Amino acid sequence: MSRLEGKVAVVTGGARGIGRAICMAYAAEGAKVAVADRLIEDAQETAALLGEAGMAVQMDVTEPAAIAAGIASIEENWGGIDILVNNAGIFNMASIEEVTVDDYRRQYDVNVGGTIFAIQAVVPGMRKRGGGVIINFSSQAGRRGEPNITIYCSTKAAVISITQSLALELAKDKIRVNAIAPGVIDTPMWTHVDALFAKYEKKPVGQKKREVGEAVPLGYMGAPEDVAKPAVFLASEDARYITAQTLNVDGGNWMS
Ligand code: NDP
Repeated sequence: MSRLEGKVAVVTGGARGIGRAICMAYAAEGAKVAVADRLIEDAQETAALLGEAGMAVQMDVTEPAAIAAGIASIEENWGGIDILVNNAGIFNMASIEEVTVDDYRRQYDVNVGGTIFAIQAVVPGMRKRGGGVIINFSSQAGRRGEPNITIYCSTKAAVISITQSLALELAKDKIRVNAIAPGVIDTPMWTHVDALFAKYEKKPVGQKKREVGEAVPLGYMGAPEDVAKPAVFLASEDARYITAQTLNVDGGNWMS
């Protein structure tokens, strides 16, 4: 049986990487899926893979007005939203001497502000619908700090806290709020991450990516689909008694 039959989902940053895998998995489970991304062309390309079940929405999550407009257009087209996946995220590295106000603001605006304001935009509709599911994206980087990654790690720790507070606040509305903390997942983001580690750890390009994959207890870097499957579970009725949790999806890197 399809586990998300009749549901409407919106996935931010849904055009590529983990977000795209979640869009595909949700559609395969019977959901209608709004692919929300910064660039409409990218969102359209992924939405086209979903056929009738897909819809592309231009949404820069650093702009609360754009989030509100995007959410309103999905609700208008499909009658409401049952599942929000706050997947859009960006990564950067900088030593404390190099941190800039712009980079600090940008990472917080996407990773933290984007999560908060997307939740703010969907909650009234979910309340009217009698409930809903929200899945935020933290990271193993939210579980402990790392040198030269002060800003990103702190944004992902903030996502764990936001998940806990809002799960408690929205429990009375039958809205479950959980997060996923991926480990190392082979997506376009990793080209950028690897290049930054090459600079900061003075390694040849490609070496860090190889090393982190080999260091995973299960022995390999995850694929986007490895994260999409738990995201289906958390969105489904199978997870009806789970809220306020951050699920590690990392091949055993972090234990909690
Ligand atoms: P990718 O960089 O591969 O994809 C991210 C998507 O988000 C892109 O389509 C990107 O579009 C979009 N995006 C970026 N900024 C915005 C914005 N302001 N508004 C809307 N969309 C935006 O990332 P991953 O798939 O690797 O990561 C997905 C999530 O998982 C992120 O939150 C990330 O932090 C987290 N994560 C990933 C890990 C990994 O190893 N890959 C590990 C731990 C956590 P564009 O390129 O046009 O900006």
